[in-house]
Amino acid sequence: MMDRYLPTPSPDPSLEGATFWNWCRKYELRFQKCGACGRHRHPPVPVCRFCGSDDVLWDRAPEGAELFSYTIIHNPVTEALKAYVPYNIAVVSFPDFGVRLISNIIDLPPEKIRIGMPLRLVWQESQDGTPLPLFSGK
Ligand SMILES: [Zn+2]
Repeated sequence: MMDRYLPTPSPDPSLEGATFWNWCRKYELRFQKCGACGRHRHPPVPVCRFCGSDDVLWDRAPEGAELFSYTIIHNPVTEALKAYVPYNIAVVSFPDFGVRLISNIIDLPPEKIRIGMPLRLVWQESQDGTPLPLFSGK
């Protein structure tokens, strides 16, 4: 079994993305929450799309996550991914927050993956040591 689900992804270089990854380095998955209207959002952006406020908090992700959608990759997009196919790309929903996160389910074969299934957050370190928020379907 491979140590990592996939090779290191490219981190988001934006200021807001850097804050997201700094929380991840503390093994905390957090999403932006508007300080004015209270709505959550992801991916991180400077201004609330609902009310226009730039007042932002970082709220810890709720426990409940479920699979919104997914795809199975059979053709590696780069040489580095050749050894990892078939792998999944999962769109994970946090219904309590109304946000979705693109990630991977690391412990199920493609035929066991079902839309709507409950998922549990697990951390796996990337090649540069950054903890990645990934998901278990077991
Ligand atoms: Zn707002």
